[in-house]
Order: sequence, then structure tokens, then C-alpha cells
Amino acid sequence: MDYEVVIGLEIHTELKTNSKIFCGCSTKFGSDQNTNVCPVCLGLPGVLPVINEKVVEFAIRAGLALNCEILPFSKFDRKNYYYPDLPKNFQTSQYDLPIAVNGHLDIEVNGETKRIGITRIHMEEDAGKLVHSGATINTSDYALVDYNRTGVPLLEIVSEPDLRSAEEAKAYLEKVKAILEYLDVSDCKMEEGSLRCDANISLRPRGQTTLGTKAEIKNLNSFRSVQRGLEYEIARQEDLLDDGGKVIQETRTWDENKGMTASMRSKEQAHDYRYLPEPDLVPIVVDPARVEEIRTNLPELPDARKQRLMDAYGLSEYDANVITASKSMADYFDQSVQANGDAKTVANWLMGEVSKHLNNEGISILECPVSPEQLTELLALIEKGTISNKIAKAVFEEMWASRKAPEVIVKEKGLVQISDTSEIVAIVDGVIAANPQSVADFKAGKDKAIGFLVGQIMKQTKGRANPDMVNSLLRERL
Ligand SMILES: [Zn+2]
Repeated sequence: MDYEVVIGLEIHTELKTNSKIFCGCSTKFGSDQNTNVCPVCLGLPGVLPVINEKVVEFAIRAGLALNCEILPFSKFDRKNYYYPDLPKNFQTSQYDLPIAVNGHLDIEVNGETKRIGITRIHMEEDAGKLVHSGATINTSDYALVDYNRTGVPLLEIVSEPDLRSAEEAKAYLEKVKAILEYLDVSDCKMEEGSLRCDANISLRPRGQTTLGTKAEIKNLNSFRSVQRGLEYEIARQEDLLDDGGKVIQETRTWDENKGMTASMRSKEQAHDYRYLPEPDLVPIVVDPARVEEIRTNLPELPDARKQRLMDAYGLSEYDANVITASKSMADYFDQSVQANGDAKTVANWLMGEVSKHLNNEGISILECPVSPEQLTELLALIEKGTISNKIAKAVFEEMWASRKAPEVIVKEKGLVQISDTSEIVAIVDGVIAANPQSVADFKAGKDKAIGFLVGQIMKQTKGRANPDMVNSLLRERL
């Protein structure tokens, strides 16, 4: 049977505030266990939460960037459930009146633009973290709990079920991540859990309008796991339905190592949580003037920046897309161009050598040991003909390792390009004399033979001969 896939994503992002959502404790990641805690976030009796204004501002900023309507009146609710990492036995969240609703976001997949609806964005607190003694929850003798994360502010961004493939879901998540980074409201470090998502997925026979029964996959915390987890789940539901079985509404976990999803618990309905209005916090009343002020001060977002790079520098849509997908990459690009780098050359290097080195070391461009100014200096050396493109790659390698300036490396290693005609002529003549067969082949019309001769010359000069000169001198003398 031909099925249509229906996916909705719930993205959770930890906000980059210095303190937690309802108390003054630090949100610093990696602190010693249970050091960033106080009676409020530990849920001790008699305490009162106080909303962190910064959280509301960040939520509005995200809401506006995702084309949402900001509700002038919203409130907090208690989502009641028992879990050891939730000391109050309820999570303070938003239920029927979230801060932002009815937004949308455009994504591009296979060259086509598609609009994805955003149902709502709400504020809530994060829960603590359980550390199990064994490899899995089932093989652990005991678990320890760290409450440092309890009360760290979260935004939950809920999409409409508008996504139709794992690929679209990944593109949507990437776009949301980029926007949150540009807004500077979250560091979006998926490996530290500050961006993670749950996916709701169902299948229905193509043409049917009612939705099929969905399963939810919890805590997908990398782009790779989003794509693989969804692909696995699509195939699982397809097989089940083809065999005449039924998908049951449940929560499933994704096991990255086994590459499969597994049932965790039957899915709760909203009424299972017995949402209650939070009596300890006053409702949030947002002044429309404040919303407009935040809107006016929104930074340049990925789509606008992409358009600017295309208009101002003539970058291709593909290049502009790659560079603006991460704010730090786009910043690096802008700084290089401001330091007089040629935009297209900078773009090529960013997507080539720089990205290759970053990927090899698994680091982000923020940690790149070569600064935008140093990269520009290197490109200027190529431009001036001091070094060839090929040598530049070796110099870049050395810059990466030693953090020295390119000029220093070129001087120290004697890499200056040989552009002196007489010096090259001597080598060209030597190579011609030593390789009569290739010379004969070339004269017999095998144009490829010249490549071998060029190679020999470059080898003898350790790549330092000016390639254009080598080519023209060779052809002249043959
Ligand atoms: Zn606290």
C-alpha cells in the first residue's frame, strides 16, 4: 500500500539565560552535581517561584522570529506527574494559554520551498538528570539524581503535523536551530542536550484525510538520530500496517547503537496530567509596545542573511545556504570579507579546507584555530602569486597546527612560488631531456602526456613552480 507519512516535531531548547526560570541559581553546564540548586528549584515546601524576565523576552523573540502571534495574556500551569528527576512532582509549564501561537516557517527540501505551521511555543522548566549505574536503565543497580538542570528555562516549539518525510523533519529542525542561534537565545548544543526533540509520526493510505494512529519517539538529540529514528519508525509502521496490524499510540525510545525504536510506555493524554493553573505565579501580561520593540530589534535572520550574501557578493544559492545554516559560519564569512577577502574565494575555502578540518576534529567554527583575518592573509598570498593554491593548502594545514601567520610559515619553509622564468626553464629542459617517451607521445597527439611532464616538474620543485608558467613554457619548448 502507498502511505503518506505525517510527522510533527516538538523541539525543546534550553535558553541561554544566566539564571534559572524561577530562581537565581546558575544554569552553567558541567558544574559539580547538585551545586546549582536552592529550595525553589528543589521544590522544598513553602517556597515561591519568581519568573525570570529574560525568559519571557527570549520566548517573545523566538515567537516573532517564527512568525507567531504573541498572546497578550498567557499563564503558567502545573503539569502533574511523578518522576524522580522532578522534585516538585509537577512541571511548571504552559497549557491552554502559551506565550506564542499560530506561526510558520519555510523550509527547503530538494530545491522546493515548503511552509510548516507552528502550533505554539511555550515556556517551561527543565527536569533534573538521572545517572544510572549501569549501561541501561534495566541493567542498573541504582540511579543517582543531579538537580542542577532542574529549573533551567526551556522553550517548547510545537509544529503542525505538516512534515511528510524524515528529510523534511531534519530540514525543519536545522532551520529552527539556525534561527535560535541567530536570535542568540540558546546555544543549541545538541550534544549537551540544549536542543532536543520528540517526533510524532503516523502513516495513512495516500488520499485519506483522517490521521492514522501516531507513535511518539522521545529525545532525539542529533540530526542523525532524527533522520534515522524517523526512517526506522516509518518502515516499522509500514510493515505493521501491511501485515494487517495496528499502530498503538505509545511513546518509544530511539536506540542509536541498535538503530531501532523500542516501546517505552503507552502514550499519555493531556487529561492524564491533570493540568492546573499555577497559583504561585501571576499571569504574564505582555505590553504590545514591548512586543513591537523586540520585533524592531530582531537580528538579521538566516533567510535575510542568505539573500544578502547572494545579492551583495553574487554567491550561488547553494553556497549561501551552506554558509548561513550556522550563524558562526556566516559571521566568520562576513569577518573574512570585511578583512578584504574575495567573497567567492572565502566561500570556497570555508566549504572546503576549513569545513574539512572542522569535521575531522569534530569542532565548531567558533573553535577554529585560524582566524578570519589569517585566512584572508593566506588568500592574499595566493592572489599575489606568492604561493600556489596547492601550497596554500599545506600552509593552511600548518596554520591550523601551529597558529602561525601564513607569511611566517611561507618564509620559514621556503614555500615561495618560483616565478623566475630562467629557473623554471632549466627545470623544464631537464625534464624534457629525461622523458623522451612522454615527449614523443605528446608530439604524436596524446595531449595527456603533458600532464605527466608537468607532474615531474612540480615534483622537482616541491610544488613551488608557478603552474601557469610551467604549462606555457612546456608547450613553448615542445
Ligand atoms: Zn534554584
